[in-house]
Amino acid sequence: MKKILVLGGTADARQLAGKLAAAYDVTLSLAGRTENPVAQGVPVRTGGFGGAEGLAAYLTENRIDLLIDATHPYAARISANAAKAAALAHVPAIALRRPAWERQPGDRWTLVDSASEAVGLLGASPRRVFLALGRQELLPFEAAPQHAYLIRSVDPVEPPLHLPDATYILARGPFSEAGDRALLETHGIDAIVSKNSGGQATYGKIAAARALGIEIFLIRRPALPDMPAGMDVDETMRLADQALAP
Ligand code: NAP
Repeated sequence: MKKILVLGGTADARQLAGKLAAAYDVTLSLAGRTENPVAQGVPVRTGGFGGAEGLAAYLTENRIDLLIDATHPYAARISANAAKAAALAHVPAIALRRPAWERQPGDRWTLVDSASEAVGLLGASPRRVFLALGRQELLPFEAAPQHAYLIRSVDPVEPPLHLPDATYILARGPFSEAGDRALLETHGIDAIVSKNSGGQATYGKIAAARALGIEIFLIRRPALPDMPAGMDVDETMRLADQALAP
């Protein structure tokens, strides 16, 4: 059986790995960031490889026939490592790259390069800001303690941020538009800082913000290496079949 290593950490990767496991020997790799990841349904290995060279060594030692980068679009380092490792180990590589959300009529988006840039653009006057970001991206908001923050994450933000007015919600997607609309209304949110993750699972807040006229500071996607890529699970499966065809 041909061997596939799927670099995961996303719901797409989990679904892709599960479907591929019907025909291939699949291992799913997680960084190990989430305390209690949902059951993945295929064999899982956890933790970093030690850079591109470490990943290349893993590919060679485990006789991997195909590497699939199905990591989150903002996980730029592992994606760069994947491309480099595949070249070093002479293993074909493909990716699952979900298309970014496109601006719709009524969206009040300001594109920014980083969370820090969003902090500056929120301005000096107190606002009520919804953040669905990871801990590293949350730290810059400590520079703007005049705002009230609503912070949603999968794992607790530990230690909590140095902010006088921060409310934490623990939740794992998918999130509906109706649920996110209720959340934004209940907390009187007037600004959102978000990544452009693409897909439906976290689009609820984007659609709800449009309906409510709420401003979104949308962090631009990082540059990712060029490789054959499917835009969803099924297209990536077809690319995998092609790459592994005898
Ligand atoms: P990153 O900055 O691109 O990667 C940092 C390091 O973490 C990598 O160099 C690698 O360590 C290790 N790593 C990342 N993904 C891995 C994987 N699937 N398997 C094994 N090692 C991995 O990544 P990140 O942004 O911290 O994201 C970490 C994980 O969370 C990824 O699985 C990603 O798909 C998931 N995730 C990220 C976001 C986000 O917004 N960034 C959102 C949702 C889920 P070594 O160099 O030692 O190999």
